Amino acid sequence: MIHALDVHKRFAAVEVLRGVSLDVGKGEVLAIIGPSGSGKSTFLRCLNHLETIDRGHIDIEGETLVGADEKGHCRYVADAGLRRICRRMGMVFQHFNLFPHLTVLENIVEAPLTVKGLRRQEVLPKADALLRKVGLLDKRDSYPARLSGGQKQRVAIARALAMEPDIMLFDEPTSALDPELTGEVLRTIRELAEERMTMLVVTHEMAFAREVASRVVFMDGGEIVEARPAKELFAAPEHPRTRAFLENML
Ligand code: ATP
Ligand code: MG
Repeated sequence: MIHALDVHKRFAAVEVLRGVSLDVGKGEVLAIIGPSGSGKSTFLRCLNHLETIDRGHIDIEGETLVGADEKGHCRYVADAGLRRICRRMGMVFQHFNLFPHLTVLENIVEAPLTVKGLRRQEVLPKADALLRKVGLLDKRDSYPARLSGGQKQRVAIARALAMEPDIMLFDEPTSALDPELTGEVLRTIRELAEERMTMLVVTHEMAFAREVASRVVFMDGGEIVEARPAKELFAAPEHPRTRAFLENML
């Protein structure tokens, strides 16, 4: 599903990703953990082209998003391909990013209508099904300002799913929530995992990572230090940096 090879990214003088390589198979759920500033968000954003990379190669579902040309320069596919590839991925952010002037329902149908050009009659039943799935059918006609953080985040998840992505990227989906609201969002993500949705989840929720992730990726200093099955990594971290990080988290 995802093949990233030797991905490099710099912001001005700082090399934020220093050769990140990762392969993600269909139905895998990866938890990405690591200290602040280690490059977790940047890596996710590079996968769906919210950031451009400086060097390396990224394939999504067997299609090359970016790679080196014959001269060794980093080249992205042309626009149409870029849009098609990026549409295979849905992203959920820490701060929901819902459209405040649209109701819950309109937030969900916006992209299917305008980006995919689907008809309202097709989209509405799907939107209702998604709202039922995230337990918010009764909030269909509410505006985001009237929702709790956990509800907003579940709408954001439904909105991303409405585009029928093959891969979901989550960047700290519960970090902005009060502790009592994280459970409902994590439950929704866990249900997606049970349906075998391929997911990359940047998270500080170690219990969630241990329980739901098939593999845990530990990033530090712009590199993947360790990427191993969750149970193994938590039980016996191989690298001293992973060990130090996990000890700090407890
Ligand atoms: P956190 O856990 O705090 O979210 P992170 O692992 O997601 O951290 P990134 O947001 O990927 O880290 O940032 C990695 C580094 O890149 C940081 O030093 C950050 O300051 C820098 N950085 C990120 N985005 C930009 C940007 N748009 N311009 C300049 N520097 C940036
Ligand atoms: Mg981040």
